[in-house]
Amino acid sequence: MLRILSFCLVLASFALGVPVAKSRQKVLLISFDGFRWDYDRDVYTPNLDTMARDGVKARYVTPPYLTITTPTHFTLLTGRYIENHGVIHNMWFNVSTGEKKPYYQTQFVNEWWDNGTLPIWITAQRQGLKAGSLHFPGTASSYQGEVAMVRDVEPRFYNYKNETAWRENTDKVMGWFRDQDLDFVSMYFGEPDSTGHKYGPDSPQRREMVKQIDRTVGYIRDSAERHGLTDRLNIIMTADHGMTTVYRNGLVEEIVLSKIPGFSFSDLSFHLVDFGPSGMLLPKPGKLDKVYNALKGSHPHLHVYKKEEMPERLHFAKNARILPIILWSDPGYVINGYLPVQFHKGEHGFDNQEMDMKPFFRAVGPAFQKNLEVGPFETVNIYPLMCHILGIKPEINDGHLNATKHMLASAATTQGEFISG
Ligand SMILES: [Zn+2]
Repeated sequence: MLRILSFCLVLASFALGVPVAKSRQKVLLISFDGFRWDYDRDVYTPNLDTMARDGVKARYVTPPYLTITTPTHFTLLTGRYIENHGVIHNMWFNVSTGEKKPYYQTQFVNEWWDNGTLPIWITAQRQGLKAGSLHFPGTASSYQGEVAMVRDVEPRFYNYKNETAWRENTDKVMGWFRDQDLDFVSMYFGEPDSTGHKYGPDSPQRREMVKQIDRTVGYIRDSAERHGLTDRLNIIMTADHGMTTVYRNGLVEEIVLSKIPGFSFSDLSFHLVDFGPSGMLLPKPGKLDKVYNALKGSHPHLHVYKKEEMPERLHFAKNARILPIILWSDPGYVINGYLPVQFHKGEHGFDNQEMDMKPFFRAVGPAFQKNLEVGPFETVNIYPLMCHILGIKPEINDGHLNATKHMLASAATTQGEFISG
């Protein structure tokens, strides 16, 4: 019965003049953490330039708010805004016990990730495809009891800068595609984020790191060629957020919550501050307005919102995990609790409208047009694009294929849009 059905589909495809794909197209999604949209402007990047000529470059893309690593990566995997996928922070926390877990430990808190939204690995596998992931945030978790079938979880205390390891990981992933016939892999590099934080986005160290990434881009494409994947593999490169310079050395009046008249940490039962430019507060019962009124308008570069007043465009309110008061600062400023304890020269986590928060986007492969530069789009739209190329039915998401389909080569060379029954 199935064979008759597929034979009919083949006939129908010929009747419509659409050639049947010889083999299914593959997708490799790569994130270079913190690669700002304009990082190729002050560095010689021959490999990124070649990739743009061979494929598609977006001027920039807009990440979801909150512009930090874990939540924005989960948006890439799900196509949902952060309030909708629920992985709202890099840190797992429990407001009852006051417990918090840092970024790496949070990778292993299953219920933080597995809270109703399925990442693309699971959806692809449920529809008969094979998926893998290397170091991508969310890889360590299971989702409704399922995991990516091939996975490499980032080791603890991993050296993000090691170019040799980058090459080994690249060859490992290309081997998965060739030898295990995977259809989709997500792959994560922790740079240039670390360098951008430590030295600032305008530093010579950041420019050197972009050169290293450019060499790696060349290596990735060569490796795809060596593994015989070029005519089937689509490579999408983007990032989770950008980076901006933090004002230091007494240049500005820093935001220190404990110094704000009328504000007291004793009115809070839980808080997440000292985490770059964003913060969330849970006031004790009856203290919400006191805390809010003390903070609102207290510093010209501090934004204070009750959860229900959050601007709709940020899509960061409608989730039980988001705390009742949300704070963020303007570019250049971070939010300190008791005293300044943050010494990064570069930071992210700001409003996603800020140009410095926008990541880069490149795509190359048989599904994409060549030598095409497109305007900006939101990163929620990358998920439906990937589902389209893979020929799978997406889960409910906040993206639209309409936002990206102009980047695709003619319909004949892709699998075609999934037609649901
Ligand atoms: Zn970072």
